[in-house]
Amino acid sequence: MADETKLMVWIDQDLCTGDGICEEIAPDVFTGRDDGLWVVKEEASIFGKTIIFDGNDAPDGARGVARVPDDQVETVVEAAEECPGECIMIEPYDAAIMAERGA
Ligand code: SF4
Repeated sequence: MADETKLMVWIDQDLCTGDGICEEIAPDVFTGRDDGLWVVKEEASIFGKTIIFDGNDAPDGARGVARVPDDQVETVVEAAEECPGECIMIEPYDAAIMAERGA
């Protein structure tokens, strides 16, 4: 199972246009929320536990930061480049975020 990754990602829902291009490109990392905006997630098949950063069980926005599977870095970067809202934020892996999460 993956633990530490190269990158992490979050979506600024204030800028999301809700077109879903991100999920079309990287369905393991992005998913649509009930209100028509998109959020990030971590898949159990990769990280051992599924976490959807939708503001319910886990925070959304800048506090809802998901690890990017190392073998999906290119697709997530492509999703960020194609995102019409320019709201997919990619950051280096941050151990402090994981510690806050209790991982
Ligand atoms: S591609 Fe960007 S604007 Fe479109 S749904 Fe995904 S995060 Fe929102």
